[in-house]
Order: sequence, then structure tokens, then C-alpha cells
Amino acid sequence: MLLLNELNITNHNNKMVNNRTFCISGSIFSRYKTVINLDIVDSVEDIINVIIKRIKDDMKNYPRILLELDREEKKFHIHDYKFGDILMSEPEQIFYVCSHC
Ligand SMILES: [Zn+2]
Repeated sequence: MLLLNELNITNHNNKMVNNRTFCISGSIFSRYKTVINLDIVDSVEDIINVIIKRIKDDMKNYPRILLELDREEKKFHIHDYKFGDILMSEPEQIFYVCSHC
């Protein structure tokens, strides 16, 4: 069990993986959830761009849903947390990406 836990928090370089979970709220993408390694992003805007790209990859066979994403993606934002807050947060915290205000 300990070994499994260690596998979850380390990568091949035995370095801590700085993952956080992001979840869409509002819109037809509500509850879309994805895990992002914070080492690959430098801002909240980067995080949102990663999420949008992943939705596009996941939904590539659903062009009408992607049309809806085109309309909504500019509205995606995270309330109350700046990038630094996300970096300092507990790994199990889930951040909600709002698309309805
Ligand atoms: Zn909002």
C-alpha cells in the first residue's frame, strides 16, 4: 500500500509531482474533471488553456459540442484563487473552473 502511494506522488525522476484537480462548473461541460501537473503551467490562464485543449482532444468526434466550447471557452475563469494560491494549496484540493458568470 505504501508503495502504491509513493507511485502516485512521484515521477520517474523520483521528484514530487505537483498535481492538482480542476473541475468545470456550469455549462454543458459541468463536472468535466482533469488533473494538471503545475510544473507545466505558469499562470491561471495556462491552466485554463490546458483544460480547453484537453476538452477539445476528448470531444474531437463531437463537433457540435466543440461549437459550444468555442462559445464558452473565453468565459472560463477560476474564482478566488490566484496562481500562487493554487501552487501553495494542498494536493487534494479541487479547483472549480466557472463558465457561467
Ligand atoms: Zn464565475
